[in-house]
Amino acid sequence: MSDDAVQHAIRELVLANRILAREDVIDDFGHVSLRHPTNPSRYFLSRSRSPVAVTADDIMEFTLEGDPIDQRGRRMYSERAIHGAIYMARPDVMSVIHHHARPVLPFTVTKLQLRPIFHMGSVMGATVPLWDSQDEFGDTNMLVDDLAKGHSLAKALGNNRSVLLARHGACNVGTSLRAAVFTAVYMKANAEMVLASLPHAPITYLTPGETEKTAAMLLSDMPLARAWDYWLTRAGFSGL
Ligand code: MN
Repeated sequence: MSDDAVQHAIRELVLANRILAREDVIDDFGHVSLRHPTNPSRYFLSRSRSPVAVTADDIMEFTLEGDPIDQRGRRMYSERAIHGAIYMARPDVMSVIHHHARPVLPFTVTKLQLRPIFHMGSVMGATVPLWDSQDEFGDTNMLVDDLAKGHSLAKALGNNRSVLLARHGACNVGTSLRAAVFTAVYMKANAEMVLASLPHAPITYLTPGETEKTAAMLLSDMPLARAWDYWLTRAGFSGL
């Protein structure tokens, strides 16, 4: 049973890589991980490779500290500390995504708030904190490339589903892989919509109550299955 669960997890993670690439959330950089289905102190993440090209052979298993279980010479993402640190801080989280989706970037370099502007955007959460590596670490190469930075980022994320990285990008988390992908896809769409609405401000945002109720509805099995099927088809995997 354990082997089957692992094979299923790896297949889903490969598909998530391809979907996030197809939906332009992740491009040449960025990554998505999945907590091990039967061992919560491990997670799966691709070797260092663009997600659009990831296959099952690329998926590696890591400890939460970021040590590979069976490296086999494969090069690793330097920002994998993001994943382990969030899994340590958030036992409820099963999947973590880190990306530099372009429409999100303006919200990391201005005082402009990223808030849910339409129902689908509710999934990113009413509060999207901004983490700035400068605050604790000063001038760096901007990468979250060790656990100290990972812990700091996880602390900024808190109990939210999304966090912005100043002058860098964002992270999304989910209680399932599909929930994390849904959140990342619609964070990007929500950011696009805020930017499109700005010239016509003032903007009406969802209330915190609308956000909570709508997100709970969207992050349930039916909408997640419906969206997953749509993304799989767009990514060329229909009929699987
Ligand atoms: Mn990055």
